[in-house]
Amino acid sequence: MSLSRLKSPRLFRQQCYVDGRWIDAGTGKTLDVHNPANGELVGQVPVLEADEIDTAVNAAATAFRHWRSRTAQERADRLMDWHDLMLVHREDLATLMTLEQGKPMGESRGEIDYAASFIRWFAEEARRMYGETIPGARIGQHIVVTRQPVGVCAAITPWNFPAAMITRKVGAALAAGCTMVVKPASATPFSALALAVLAEEAGIPHGVFNVVTGSADTISETLTGNPAVRKLSFTGSTDVGRRLMAQCAEHIQKISLELGGNAPFIVFDDADIGRAVEGAMVCKFRNTGQTCVCANRFLVQSAVHDNFVAALAEAMGKLRVGDGFEEGVTQSALINGDAVEKVVEHFEDALAKGAKRVCGPAPDTDRGNYVQPVLLTDINTDMKLCHEETFGPLAAIMRFDTEEEAIALANATPYGLAAYFYSRDIHRVWRVADALEAGIIGINEGLISNPMAPFGGIKESGLGREGSRHGLNEYTELKYLCMGAQ
Ligand code: NAP
Repeated sequence: MSLSRLKSPRLFRQQCYVDGRWIDAGTGKTLDVHNPANGELVGQVPVLEADEIDTAVNAAATAFRHWRSRTAQERADRLMDWHDLMLVHREDLATLMTLEQGKPMGESRGEIDYAASFIRWFAEEARRMYGETIPGARIGQHIVVTRQPVGVCAAITPWNFPAAMITRKVGAALAAGCTMVVKPASATPFSALALAVLAEEAGIPHGVFNVVTGSADTISETLTGNPAVRKLSFTGSTDVGRRLMAQCAEHIQKISLELGGNAPFIVFDDADIGRAVEGAMVCKFRNTGQTCVCANRFLVQSAVHDNFVAALAEAMGKLRVGDGFEEGVTQSALINGDAVEKVVEHFEDALAKGAKRVCGPAPDTDRGNYVQPVLLTDINTDMKLCHEETFGPLAAIMRFDTEEEAIALANATPYGLAAYFYSRDIHRVWRVADALEAGIIGINEGLISNPMAPFGGIKESGLGREGSRHGLNEYTELKYLCMGAQ
């Protein structure tokens, strides 16, 4: 599917956006971006060098002085214009996303709505960046606490949500009065660059929002090595997050980390099985299993195990694999060959350790980046998929007998991003919600992402929250003013 589908071809940019200018790399170096559905070249983006990244940081530092001094209403107005333009160009943005990321067009449209909703949410929150007053320690003394923008922020984002993982950072940062340099994933830079085109058209001042592409190592080392950058927000794998946290130590930069997960999805014997299957389908198969909050392990109580397995297999039979541009496709190509290999590895490891295949062909590496959905039962904790994210359309079911056992199994992971459970017993609902070690709990609900709630994990799934009023606070510093009596 070609770029000729775009109604506004100007949204497809193959240059970086720095200080309001569209630039190539001084060296002329570029990196190729391929369509995961068919391997075709989509385009090329510059490989910027360290000095060019520093130019972006300097531009953001200069722009910060003006942007922070605007009223919250003025910042909100620019953000709302940006939001509106995203919706005007929804179809083109979705097309670019499907071209570079592969996901079905329906999901790409959904992501554009979701991405825009963060810009709107934070535009609305900008005027509620409240401080507080505290009774003084002495007669006549006043204590006032204000919130101030952190300063220049950097963001490094993943390929699985090429627009939303950017807007939930940049929306909050810009609303708070910060400026930002974003490095998108190399697999999906065009969504980010299209957002920059619209930011410019929305009147967001030069230098406030910058997009740089190139080597992850060079960019991250330059950003964390520059003391003008006061915060880094990263979404991606736990291994890279750990490295970035160490890099931020040098200049004591603030850091937010949205990292990997290994979400348990528990179905208790008192659950509504129909609803549990609906939730399981959206939770497991959205983005072809490539979300950080995907159910990685289904834990099903013995009494309802067989019913749940049969109903899930039936629902999975309706999934359709193909190019994301084809009508009716629900499961697209995975992002690349490594992603396919990971699914194959988890499948073969599970089978070798006693798992049974209920439906779906065995995944292999002979069909490009395509993997048919597959359902396994008889999962046990020796298997790799109990300890690592599979990030693909492999549903794995483990049987349990008691609530205590389910909680222990669910928590037996270094990750703590999302967890889900289905039950109609109100006492059990509270007990289990309290006991699960995760930042986000879906209770009789498989789709938990929205701009108004705080999204984020505990344990090795990360630090900080995005979305909600807490997401805005992540881009502010508290300043305490102590006013003595006269
Ligand atoms: P990744 O390999 O960690 O890449 C994420 C970003 O980090 C990309 O921009 C990548 O750049 C960059 N990067 C890679 N190596 C780096 C390094 N050494 N230093 C600095 N930056 C580096 O993760 P991914 O495979 O793109 O994304 C999938 C992961 O993200 C999964 O683990 C998923 O669970 C997690 N995720 C978490 C959330 C959440 O909210 N918690 C949301 C979405 C995804 P290049 O593309 O140039 O390599």
